[in-house]
Amino acid sequence: MNEKIELIGLSRDELAAELAKLGEKPFRAKQIWHWLYNQGVTDFSAMTNLSKDLREKLSAGYVISRPKVVARQISSDKTSKWLLEFADGQRVEMVYIPEEDRGAVCISTQVGCAVGCTFCHTGSQRITRNLTAGEIVGQFLVARDAYNEWPTPANETRFLSNVVVMGMGEPLHNLDNVITALKIISDGEGLAVSKRRITLSTSGIAPKMTRVAQELGVKLAVSLHAPNNELRSKIMPINNKYPLEEVMQACQEYQKIVTSRFITFEYLMLDGINDSLDCAHQLIALMKKYKIGAKFNLIPFNPWPGCAYKPSSRNRVMAFSRELEKGGYAAPVRVARGQDILAACGQLKSKKDEEDKKK
Ligand code: SAH
Ligand code: SF4
Repeated sequence: MNEKIELIGLSRDELAAELAKLGEKPFRAKQIWHWLYNQGVTDFSAMTNLSKDLREKLSAGYVISRPKVVARQISSDKTSKWLLEFADGQRVEMVYIPEEDRGAVCISTQVGCAVGCTFCHTGSQRITRNLTAGEIVGQFLVARDAYNEWPTPANETRFLSNVVVMGMGEPLHNLDNVITALKIISDGEGLAVSKRRITLSTSGIAPKMTRVAQELGVKLAVSLHAPNNELRSKIMPINNKYPLEEVMQACQEYQKIVTSRFITFEYLMLDGINDSLDCAHQLIALMKKYKIGAKFNLIPFNPWPGCAYKPSSRNRVMAFSRELEKGGYAAPVRVARGQDILAACGQLKSKKDEEDKKK
């Protein structure tokens, strides 16, 4: 018997093609899309505007699934973290960070990561595989299920209002699936998270950045972490492949296509490595040279067992932030959320994997 086809993660065209195979007209695909992504149903029998005959055909050949929740932790500040498992047993983390009247869901794009940044716990786990578009969308669906935000509210006051692609993996190493997934997540007739509320973070895979601008137009965050090639290559070996000049040129190009938006530069504060005022001055010069509409996000480093770095002191981070602001750039310090449950990204997965091995 043939395996059933997963509907979650099919693009609109792919869904229409499946319906055409069943001899159905395109408007049926539109109806099903609405059930999947506006109503959040997981059972064909709930699709009451389809004939019984079609519903039976669908359940014979197709499935609507969700990643399995292996563990969920809720921090004292309400940050929520899930460990999710896919059909082949591979696992990733997802985090929900609530604010007063909105919140961001942080999703993963790969199991592990091939970029190998020296400060990153996920990077130290190497790459296992890419996630499918369905597995990327599936994470957001789990969050919607958990917060009972079905059907998708028409206005934008929902709690799960934003999506950040900042979980495990390098999204530009899995770009086709990320594009399909983010198109589904931003589709106005479904999950309806507007592109202004989606941020994709990359370590700077320069040749792929223009495609993100052209095909998605979401907000861009670039993990910079150092103001010059020498230091950046030490912290992020990928810089040898795509040096700062190429990354900054790709940022310029991005802003030509996706106008009137800042690019956020993420900057991890590593004690005695990249946190001097001289580094701040170099950063300002770099942004001015390339005329980038930029803001910084200073990230407190989250240490993990075996890593070589220490977090910068609060004073040093504040002085660095003030220096960037004097240069004309916003540079808020990211508030560390969910400290009691999170630790560095990738740690819940490692901890559970270890525990499960002992069983
Ligand atoms: N691969 C992409 C997106 C995932 S990483 C990227 O690198 O941009 C998302 C963010 O988490 C990056 O800015 C990364 O620098 C940061 N990060 C990684 N390890 C961290 C740690 N130990 N403490 C704090 N932030 C970390
Ligand atoms: Fe990969 Fe991002 Fe971690 Fe670097 S920081 S290893 S790119 S997940």
